Formats: sequence, C-alpha cells, structure tokens
Amino acid sequence: MSFESLGLLPELTRALADRGYVEPTPVQARVIPEILAGRDILAGAQTGTGKTAGFTLPILQELHSLANHAKAPRALILVPTRELAAQVAESVKSYGKYLHLRTLVLFGGVSINPQTDALRRGCDILVATPGRLLDHAQQGNVDLSKVAIFVLDEADRMLDMGFIADIRRVIKKLPSKRQNLMFSATYSEDIRGLAQSLLRNPAEIEIARRNAAVESVDQVVYKVSKDQKRALLSHLIQEGTWNQVLIFTRTKHGANRLMKQLEQDGIEAAAIHGNKSQNARTQALAAFKQFKIRALVATEVASRGLDIKELPHVVNYELPNVPEDYVHRIGRTGRAGASGSAVSLVSSDESGLLKDIERLLRKSIPVATVPVFKQAPPPAANTEPERRSFSGNRSQDSRPARSGERRPSSHQGAKRHPTSRSGSPFQSRGESSSGQRPQSPGQRPSGQRPSRTGGHQRRSGPSQAPRGRSR
Ligand code: AMP
Repeated sequence: MSFESLGLLPELTRALADRGYVEPTPVQARVIPEILAGRDILAGAQTGTGKTAGFTLPILQELHSLANHAKAPRALILVPTRELAAQVAESVKSYGKYLHLRTLVLFGGVSINPQTDALRRGCDILVATPGRLLDHAQQGNVDLSKVAIFVLDEADRMLDMGFIADIRRVIKKLPSKRQNLMFSATYSEDIRGLAQSLLRNPAEIEIARRNAAVESVDQVVYKVSKDQKRALLSHLIQEGTWNQVLIFTRTKHGANRLMKQLEQDGIEAAAIHGNKSQNARTQALAAFKQFKIRALVATEVASRGLDIKELPHVVNYELPNVPEDYVHRIGRTGRAGASGSAVSLVSSDESGLLKDIERLLRKSIPVATVPVFKQAPPPAANTEPERRSFSGNRSQDSRPARSGERRPSSHQGAKRHPTSRSGSPFQSRGESSSGQRPQSPGQRPSGQRPSRTGGHQRRSGPSQAPRGRSR
C-alpha cells in the first residue's frame, strides 16, 4: 500500500517522501480514508503507531481544499501535554511544508503575550493544551467558532490528568457541525462515555492493544545512581543469564558507549540508532535474533519499525522523556502469553519521569532491592565517567565482537567482574553508596541468585501517583 493509493495530495506525499516514509503504518492506512470521507473517528492507537500523521495528513488535505482567508482556526488539535503539543505542531508543519497553511501551538508554562500576538495574525491549525487554550478563550484571544475538525489526542491521558471539565468547556465553544477525531490508547468507561457524547456514528479503529501486553510484563524498578547503572546492568545480565536483552538509552552516543562497556564486561552487544545505516541495523537485529549477541542497545527512534518482539528482557537504562514511550518499549516483551521482564534503572534525577509513567499506567511499578554487585569505582577528578573502565582487569580480547562472532568463554568467567579499585569491591546489603535503598526485613538474602526472568525482589512501590494538571 502506498500513500498515493490513500488519495493523498502530491504535496503531502512529497513531504512524506522527504521524511523517508515509504508506506503508511496500519493506523494511517485505516484512519486516513475514513477522515477524508468526512467521518468521525474513535481510534485506539498509541504513540509510536504513526497516529499523528494519521490525523494530520487528512486534516491538511481537507483544509487545503477549502479556500479560506479567515483568521480563525479551522482545525483544533487538543493534546494533554506541552511536549506533545510541540511535537504534534512540528509534525503538522513538516507534513504540510508544501501547502500554505498556518499552524500555531499554544501551551502553558510560557509567556501568554507572544501567543496572543500570533493568534491575532491568524492560523489554520491550532494545536493546544486545554488549560492555556481556555485562558486565551476567556481573554477573547481566540475564536473557535470556525473549527471544522476537532481532534482529541491521547484522550485517556487527558482524563487521567483531570482535564475532563476543561475538555467539555472547549467543546462548548466549538460549532455543532464539525468532524471529530478521538484517539485513545485505552478504552475505559469514562473514555466510552466521552466518545458517546462527542462522536457521531464514528468509524471505530483498533490498532494495537498494547496495554494488554503490558499487563503481562513483569515490571520492576531499580533505584540506582547514574554511575552504577552500567555495573548493575552487567550484573543482572550475567547473573540472570539473560541471553537476549533489548536495552534502551536516550541518546545515540549513550547507546554506543553502553555497547562498548558491555563488551568490556564480556557481554556481546550491538547498538542501533539513527547514525547507523539501515543495513547495519538489520544486521545487528539479525545477530540478536539468532542469539549471536546477547544485548541490543537501542535508541527509541531506531527501535521503531524494527520487528523486535516477544523478547524475554527489556531494560530501560534511562527512562524515556515521554511516558508513552515506556509502554511502547516494554510492549516488546511478554507478548502472546510469553512471560517477559521489563527492568528500569532509575537514578534520582529521573524520579519525575517515573511518576509520569506510573500516572500513565495508573499503577506504581514495584521497586526491587538492588542486588549485591560490583561497584564501579568512584569517579576520578577530571575523568569522564565512561573512561573509568576496569582497565587493569579487562580480559585480553577487548575488541568488540562482530555480529555473528561468539565470545570466547573466558569472557564469561570471573574476569568479567574485576576487582574494584575502591577499597571495598562489593556493595554490601543495605549499603547505599549509590543511593540505593537498604533491603527491608524478610527479603531475599544477598547471595541468592535471581530467577531467569529477572529475579526481582519486590516491595510495593509508592502509592498511586497524584493526579494533577498543568497549564
Ligand atoms: P506517532 O505515533 O505519531 O508519535 O509516530 C511515531 C513515529 O513514527 C514518529 O517518529 C513518526 O515520525 C514516525 N512515522 C509516522 N508515520 C510513519 C511512516 N509511515 N513510516 C515511517 N515512520 C513513520
């Protein structure tokens, strides 16, 4: 299937080709024709499925075909967070770069005046978070009476964040004759209720029931300082005899560095990220699937579009900035009834991100006691953390394993855990040199090996994350 066959304008298919998109994703293939036909939509699709282009492309096409010189927006895209607002607006601009439509984004936390000025100049497509949009509406800065297409993106998250009253207030300001597109990753009673009041005879489109997959994943958090993450990760992989683990880092540089560090620890690894050619990514993936390498270190973007699923282990070496990406990442394990484990290594600066994820999941993720592992030595002054290798103890063959190449067994032995240069090479139970929590009574004694799926020792995590809203 091609974008042309969906009936999209050449100006849009050209912009898609510029971005390197070859074919529509499943959600795009299903929603684009329905939207172009003027129908309301209720779509169950999460971030990562390509839903943004799914609603943006037909909106651009519809608005382009309606000649209009009014200043008031004709499409309103309501999203829950500032980050998403900025992302969606970027997408609209990028997909619409060969059309002459104006896009404006409104969100809170920044000065209102430049937004007011921009509203005065007019726009065709308005992307906004509910609170700030209502602020503008109350001040008479925005006229929503010309909105012909209304998008409620991530509706479930909107409700989680307590936006229902604001959403209803916004809807009251829209004209009654309009097309409504609602996207939600999950369908709760509340979502169904909102859909019923908002949508008219909608096309219902269900893409991936990722939440079901996520529920079957054994999720756990280890609270650990940044500079101990690598040593803990190597420990978990080796002691848990994980043979196939997908590890997410936030940056390409971080992926490369971690891949090298794992190799130094005797764990065969490869990295995939945006700087690697498609060919290199495909090869790394093939080696990983064939168990020629144990660890695949990936950035979020690189992992998209790759067919990696039903993995036994996924590790968030760093938490994603966007909570949905967590769901997307861990959705790669535990599918089709297979048990899977998702481990997140969370340093203190990431606690806000963890809260956001728990709010999205509507549950807290159990915190496991950090097992006894060999600590990385403390940072030496003026030394980059990644250079603090266990050089004196590295096994002789420290060159990275190539795809398809198995490490000699010497890598699997005691040499992999060199003695730390700090006085005490082992972290003892209850010590918290890395900010780790002491074990609580009744938990597994320190020498016990973890189980194959991770051997996490659990204690209840924090109680339900607070609900809140920001403007
Ligand atoms: P979204 O679910 O809208 O957040 O999109 C997820 C990611 O997929 C974004 O980085 C998009 O740029 C990308 N994307 C969307 N549609 C396609 C496509 N047809 N082919 C390749 N990548 C896409």
